[in-house]
Amino acid sequence: MGKFQQQDVVIIGAGIAGSALAVALSGQGMSITLVEAQSVAAPGLPDVRDVHNFDTRVSALTPRSRAYLDTLGAWEAIAAYRSLAYRHMTVWDAQGTGQIDFDHAEVNVPELGHIVENRAIVSALLAQVATAPDVQVMSPALLTSCSRLESGEMSLALDDGQTLQACLIVAADGALSPVREMMAFRSREWDYGHCALAATVEVEQDHKDTAWQRFLPSGPLALLPLPGAEGRHYCSIVWSMQEHLVDDMLVLEDGAFCTELEEASERCLGAVLGASKRFAFPLRQRHAVDYVQEGVALVADAAHTIHPLAGQGINLGLQDVSVLAEEILAGHARSVSPGELALLRRYQRRRKGENLTMMAAMDGFKRLFEQQALPLRWLRNVGMRRVDQMLPLKQRIMRQAMGLG
Ligand SMILES: Cc1cc2nc3c(=O)[nH]c(=O)nc-3n(C[C@H](O)[C@H](O)[C@H](O)COP(=O)(O)OP(=O)(O)OC[C@H]3O[C@@H](n4cnc5c(N)ncnc54)[C@H](O)[C@@H]3O)c2cc1C
Repeated sequence: MGKFQQQDVVIIGAGIAGSALAVALSGQGMSITLVEAQSVAAPGLPDVRDVHNFDTRVSALTPRSRAYLDTLGAWEAIAAYRSLAYRHMTVWDAQGTGQIDFDHAEVNVPELGHIVENRAIVSALLAQVATAPDVQVMSPALLTSCSRLESGEMSLALDDGQTLQACLIVAADGALSPVREMMAFRSREWDYGHCALAATVEVEQDHKDTAWQRFLPSGPLALLPLPGAEGRHYCSIVWSMQEHLVDDMLVLEDGAFCTELEEASERCLGAVLGASKRFAFPLRQRHAVDYVQEGVALVADAAHTIHPLAGQGINLGLQDVSVLAEEILAGHARSVSPGELALLRRYQRRRKGENLTMMAAMDGFKRLFEQQALPLRWLRNVGMRRVDQMLPLKQRIMRQAMGLG
């Protein structure tokens, strides 16, 4: 490989968003490079099911995201590995009697969504990338600098000394996006002072393909159903709480942690029998003021990070990817450079509104459930019971959350 390469599109980051974009752009006569800091050598997915063998990072994919992964040719491999179709969702308030139950039958769909381990999604997408002769993967390779040349082209340097030039660089490099920083994109941030604790747990009772979410005064706790095996039941948990509480939870001995979780979940699935290693993710809501500059586009977490309470992060991210790919390919068909600002602005216009609406809704939810004042607690409980009885409103909420809205 030479010391210098000219590419149409260079994508930084081979997480779900970057890998999906590489697949979406392949096969259309463009030269594409996918750069990833970690090694992406086919890792092989473990088949054993116990709390230590699931990926701690899972995503609740909407039917819209599943359909898009299907279009990219990745869904079959994900389904053949393991995923769980969840059909119900129960949301309740720890401080009162408010509860809402959502059921797939109420919106006439076979399921509300699928819970899938992130590594299964990435692995299925990278298997598609491996069959695309027009996509070159550079990994492990860390982007160390990027800048715009006078010609408008982007110039990139990697830690192994290689340099690239591209018409467009796409930042799919996650919430802390180095590209966003290097290119001085401005963003608005809200630090919640909260962390999300994620782990896989084994529970006593069958989860009945239900996603459970309990709003505690310290933050929401979600138990997402995972595929079981040999009569054993597993869930992935995402437990948001203040930073100092997370530190205590991380160092707790396993048995004591399971007891804490049992209490916090109101034993909705009986006893918690075991837990994997726990990980903490700082929670910060962040939204880039602009998603694009000439020759640069931000997608998914690089453009927006959202509270995980409604599991919408990568669902929004995959829609960014879908729209950006559509605009780039439409431009390519008219011989328009993928880095052209007018083309990239169309992507920004089509995505910013939906992302902002979802972020505002999640922020509002989180703040509402934090309120300790009695009138607000009363209102919220009455509100939840009311919504639960109003089918048309519930249907609207469900369709919106499923990306069908
Ligand atoms: C606890 C938790 C639970 C969540 N649950 C859900 C859910 O149920 N549903 C949902 O939709 N979303 C969920 N999310 C959000 C979701 O995980 C993210 O939106 C998604 O992973 C973002 O994907 P991405 O591809 O944008 O970024 P990432 O997955 O962060 O990937 C970025 C990639 O870029 C690479 N990279 C970074 N810097 C460089 C560099 N300089 N050079 C080369 N490569 C680089 C990294 O190595 C990485 O592989 C959750 C998030 C958290 C924290």
